[in-house]
Amino acid sequence: MKLQNGTYHLSGNVALNELVEKYGCPLYVYDSEVIKRQYNKLKDAFTYKKIKLNYACKALTNINILKYVRSLGAGLDCVSVQEVKLGLMAGYAPEDILYTPNCISMDEIEECVGLGVKINIDNTSILEQFGHQFPDYPVCVRINPHIMAGGNTKISTGHIDSKFGISVYQMPLVKRIIKATGLRVNGMHMHTGSEILDVDVYLRGADILLNAAMDFDGLDYIDLGSGFKVSYKNDGIETDIKELGSKLTERFEEFCEAYGKELTLEFEPGKYLVSEAGLFLVKVNVVKQTVSTVFAGVDSGLNHLIRPMFYDAYHEISNISNPEGKKRIYTVVGYICETDTFGVNRKIPEVREGDILAFQNAGAYCYMMSSNYNSRFRPAEVMIYEGKDYLIRKRETMDDIIKNQIEHEIFEPAIQI
Ligand SMILES: *Cc1c(COP(=O)(O)O)cnc(C)c1O
Repeated sequence: MKLQNGTYHLSGNVALNELVEKYGCPLYVYDSEVIKRQYNKLKDAFTYKKIKLNYACKALTNINILKYVRSLGAGLDCVSVQEVKLGLMAGYAPEDILYTPNCISMDEIEECVGLGVKINIDNTSILEQFGHQFPDYPVCVRINPHIMAGGNTKISTGHIDSKFGISVYQMPLVKRIIKATGLRVNGMHMHTGSEILDVDVYLRGADILLNAAMDFDGLDYIDLGSGFKVSYKNDGIETDIKELGSKLTERFEEFCEAYGKELTLEFEPGKYLVSEAGLFLVKVNVVKQTVSTVFAGVDSGLNHLIRPMFYDAYHEISNISNPEGKKRIYTVVGYICETDTFGVNRKIPEVREGDILAFQNAGAYCYMMSSNYNSRFRPAEVMIYEGKDYLIRKRETMDDIIKNQIEHEIFEPAIQI
């Protein structure tokens, strides 16, 4: 988002206030140029040749985004059979989709085997059942290296008490299962959490995984998951991808040499690819001065963007209607009948009723976590591609609120309004 002649623009000179006029508010906007920039930045950080990036699509699964990311050359990491199906609909080949669920039933895994995608198994119970049922279908195993990594405990998945992955201490059991069932393990995986800032923590996890992998024959790939932190506060605090790339390349080449084969090194970034590409635009309904605080109340809430309330996440907020106004202090809140504070005591150019505010870093886990709470509609989504704007999801209507509800004859039929 750039300020140009007093108005904010995205790539290709698309003016934000014009998008609001055209599509209304609240509105999610994704700039595909930013996704491309991030994809290339990550890819270019590694000099190792056999690198593959699988987009962890739970961050943002709009089918147009999936197609765009595919056009960049990425595969897909999916956590549900529904995501797998979206990926197939978006044109990903089954072998470019890795299905990494946790705590799901054997039935869903069977369905994914039927779809031909790569399967990643994260517990020994399912691994054993899978081995008996599909001994000829190669699988990946998800290892828990037991390191504490990630931005906060809600998004940390690799520590000792985490439900994710097979403990690195259970490798003897994994080997027994392989032996007993004839199963072929061709990939090893870890994903230790989101927002890992410290490159050395990442390397420590990788080291544990690679040491474990030495004991398994027949591997084709190693998947080191994700967890790259992006900057939320425009302060440049993010994972040093260049440093990570060069250190990991060195370590991985060493591993391949010792293993005796050049394996594919895979990653599955979600946030890193799409977070900064997204903006969320909302309209200020009310400016409310109380005894101690000036609230800016907007036409949205935790039903559309729950990260601030759920994770205490920080999203930068700008007033795009008054970019050069005098800065004042506001607490920005939503319209939901519950405390839904987006930001406390933010210094923002003077906010007037009717102004449009923009939340940054709204590409990952924002629309995807939205709901119909308070029976409100989910917002529309727009994608900017080569300087043009495309509506990629329409705003919901009353039909969406009522469509799956079943009326019974025990009551009077609903009144049409
Ligand atoms: C969510 C998830 C990711 C993506 O994490 P980000 O922090 O968004 O990059 C990658 N791998 C798996 C298995 C996940 O569940």
